[in-house]
Amino acid sequence: MPLKQLVLNGFKSFADKTTINFNKGITGIVGPNGSGKSNVTEAIRWVMGENSAKALRGENMRDIIFAGSEFRGPLNKAEVCLIFDNHDRQLHLDSDKVAIMRRILRSGDSEYFINNQSVRLKDIRTLFVDSGLSQNSLAIISQGKVDQILNSQAEDRRYIFEEAAGVLHFKQQKLVALKKLDETNNNLIRINDLVKELK
Ligand code: ATP
Repeated sequence: MPLKQLVLNGFKSFADKTTINFNKGITGIVGPNGSGKSNVTEAIRWVMGENSAKALRGENMRDIIFAGSEFRGPLNKAEVCLIFDNHDRQLHLDSDKVAIMRRILRSGDSEYFINNQSVRLKDIRTLFVDSGLSQNSLAIISQGKVDQILNSQAEDRRYIFEEAAGVLHFKQQKLVALKKLDETNNNLIRINDLVKELK
């Protein structure tokens, strides 16, 4: 499921529409300090479902919208679009190309699209969790993450291996199943009480 293209528009320092093509092999992004390299990875994390402003080095999610510079005023919206080659169907959608788009307006309203169809944030997250690319996966290792992994507790490290092995998806399904089981048990208890009353 190769990542083919990233389009940023109004995201942080990318005031103008900027397209980054990812060709076969390794793509390196180089530039001086403060030129926006980390903003590129943050844009990818954001469109994949990141919802913590702090994780994107902001106070409020609106901080990701271009805030203006010496030469131009602030913008009113930010958009990021990620395009995957999905010939291998790693993303569980019957489409050779998958375009995920997220937009935020200065009013705070957000919109999400999969292949131009309006969806919920939950749908985007589910799409990536099902493919083993959830927002916390090691597909994106940001600055400081390596130190964090090396210094982490055994339990946290286990989570990282489970994620890499694709176990996390099943753990989430197990949690949903356990919740349903719990609800069913409660229903059974209630029915038994009713039966006793009727006897
Ligand atoms: P380094 O090499 O030091 O890690 P970098 O190339 O990764 O730097 P980033 O941290 O991605 O750079 O970019 C920081 C730049 O993004 C700063 O110049 C900052 O002013 C700018 N920036 C961040 N948020 C916004 C915003 N909302 N509007 C405009 N510019 C922004």
